Amino acid sequence: MLKTLTPEMRTVHTVEALRRIVRGWKQDGLTVGLVPTMGALHDGHLSLVRAALRTMDRVIVSIFVNPMQFDNPSDLGTYPRTEDEDSQMLAEAGTHLLYAPTATEMYPPGFSTSISVGSVAEGLCGAHRPGHFDGVATVVCKLFLQSQADAAFFGEKDFQQIHVVRRMATDLDIPIRLVACPTRREEDGLAMSSRNRRLTGTGDRDRAGALPAALTDAAREIASGRPVGTVLAATRARLLKAGFAEIEYLELRRDADLAPLSERDGQPARLLAAGRVGTVRLIDNVPVDGPSGLDDRTA
Ligand code: AMP
Repeated sequence: MLKTLTPEMRTVHTVEALRRIVRGWKQDGLTVGLVPTMGALHDGHLSLVRAALRTMDRVIVSIFVNPMQFDNPSDLGTYPRTEDEDSQMLAEAGTHLLYAPTATEMYPPGFSTSISVGSVAEGLCGAHRPGHFDGVATVVCKLFLQSQADAAFFGEKDFQQIHVVRRMATDLDIPIRLVACPTRREEDGLAMSSRNRRLTGTGDRDRAGALPAALTDAAREIASGRPVGTVLAATRARLLKAGFAEIEYLELRRDADLAPLSERDGQPARLLAAGRVGTVRLIDNVPVDGPSGLDDRTA
């Protein structure tokens, strides 16, 4: 029997080469999806690629460890880099194009523009990582304009990031559809993350698993009507007891616009947390009732 041959994945490193390929696709009437990543890929990233492949004719994955979004130089220095494995995983998943620009391609000498998004970038990770979301908004805006993609796929694991990107794309009239994909988790519930491979201290990996468990229980209790403040205080204590070195934040927010909530207001809500196990910073979030309203929103 004849097998359909999948064309090999191509890899480009420059905006010019990226644009040339995308122009050809668009001339052929093909739709283009973009999955922005920082590499060190895992099945969470691949789930975005699979979602993109389901609805788009061509899928680009970008890998760029964006210096502009790291508030801490040692975090940037130790961020895992696994280029060869990444490339292999993407090719096997059926990605059409890997775009891996260098830092100078993305930020040539003289580069001096920064995009700063308002209220949705404040608080939560924005409060603990100064400049982080300016870096995210700027690089994602550039990736959207460089790729001219019709749709871009993001993970709900980085829930505030989706809000920031959506606000940026809406405010700047970038014609791209944003698709939010569910968080992929390990068997014990830990959200897959490139940073998990740094959980190497004795017992750190087990400690990390306490985060999704505590969030899921807290979400259930809040949904059942227990006072939010009581639940959050007990959850914080539970995580510290489980061995978390620090809880940066643990907050209930309105799903639709990230407005802080001290009590449920009848609309879908989300419980979001960030904490540290040893030196590894982990973030996670869970819906308080029902699925997110963020899915497949058009900017
Ligand atoms: P990163 O490489 O960490 O910048 O992530 C690139 C994209 O993959 C972002 O849209 C993330 O939200 C998404 N992502 C990371 N981890 C997961 C996960 N466990 N499940 C789903 N998406 C994820």
